[in-house]
Amino acid sequence: MIKRTTIFMIFSCVLGPFAHAEPILLTNGTLLEPSTQSVIKQHLLLDGDRIISRLERIPNNFMGKQIDIAGKYVIPGLIDMHTHAFGNRAPNTKTETMGPSTTAQVVLHAGVTGFVDLFGNEQRLFEHRRLQHAKLITGADIYASLSCLTAPGGHCSQFGKTRTISNEQEATRHIAELAKKQADVIKLVSTLEGKLPSLTAHKLEYTIKEAKKYGIKTIVHIHTLADIENAIKAKADAITHLPDDTVLPIDLAKTLAENGIAVIPTTSVDTDYYEFLFSNVLESPLAKKVAASRILGAYAVSASNMTMKSKHKIKRRTNMYYQSLANLIAADVKLLAGSDSGNYGTLQGFTMHRELEKFVSAGQSPWLALASATSYAREFLNRPTGLNKNGEASLVILNSSPIEDIKNSQDIFAVIHRGKLIN
Ligand SMILES: [Zn+2]
Repeated sequence: MIKRTTIFMIFSCVLGPFAHAEPILLTNGTLLEPSTQSVIKQHLLLDGDRIISRLERIPNNFMGKQIDIAGKYVIPGLIDMHTHAFGNRAPNTKTETMGPSTTAQVVLHAGVTGFVDLFGNEQRLFEHRRLQHAKLITGADIYASLSCLTAPGGHCSQFGKTRTISNEQEATRHIAELAKKQADVIKLVSTLEGKLPSLTAHKLEYTIKEAKKYGIKTIVHIHTLADIENAIKAKADAITHLPDDTVLPIDLAKTLAENGIAVIPTTSVDTDYYEFLFSNVLESPLAKKVAASRILGAYAVSASNMTMKSKHKIKRRTNMYYQSLANLIAADVKLLAGSDSGNYGTLQGFTMHRELEKFVSAGQSPWLALASATSYAREFLNRPTGLNKNGEASLVILNSSPIEDIKNSQDIFAVIHRGKLIN
């Protein structure tokens, strides 16, 4: 016979990290609310996953953890809208392999309290998400496309097993299966005019229609302007990446805006390789926190071995991507911040901050840059937004204001994830 105490012990072990959550009261801080672009001087009460309320006065009888954050700024936790929880890569060195569990722990320290994995090992991601939903493991909230729908031999299939579509029946079956597995979004690949086979315009449109039947949003990986035009015709909810062949013209950017299609440009994956090699960005304390020194050092070695010709070529391409981003911003397209971490020129968690910096340097306001990683991201994922009642108790407390300078998003004092203080 199992004693009551034994049962309690089993439960405490299983529930481990969730067992001791006590309410948290953040006092005297400045709340920055991206959804309304407002600066609020109120105390914030959290309990478990939720924000309970904003308060004018500190209650006399408060029985929880009170943290005085006078002089500090609170923003909602960041959500990375495009990542691959593989780990960190650098040229000519072994990948720092992490997988979903470790990635989910590491990125929390960078204030990334949730991320959308847009393709990895389907079974592993599914299992990780299941354990997280059952509250058996901690770490940043994971959302996932689980798979990547592409043409046979198309982009994604070079990285591992994925789902391919050669006819309507296959599209219908894959979407039904992914819906059953509760994929948070559907990722599709269009790479017309590329070297690899691509989903045709018709198959793209058909598959997106199937996803809409289940109410699942679609994100199309694009490569050229033709891919963007097809994604617009197919009524995708979002596209991801910037064109690789030319600058995205302002008129096409306006069409995206008019059709309400969000863009996850992943500017950093296309432009930060150059910066990692030839600037001091990797000296950031945050970069050192999320990646092995071996990874950071490998970029310096690679820079010293590069020819002038290659350096100029990378620089030219980098400028092309920045111009596309500037056109999207000028056309008022809704941007969502995604790092495409797992690739060269990115670091898990850190690159989200780089992406925000790039948005601002290309003409975005700091408020909208923050929204792209917080309120807009949560809207896209059908999550509650905002630093108010019933909002997610996942927050970043900053030492300095990101509205003054977006780089201050890296100046992290503490992170709270689902009502639990991380650091
Ligand atoms: Zn990607």
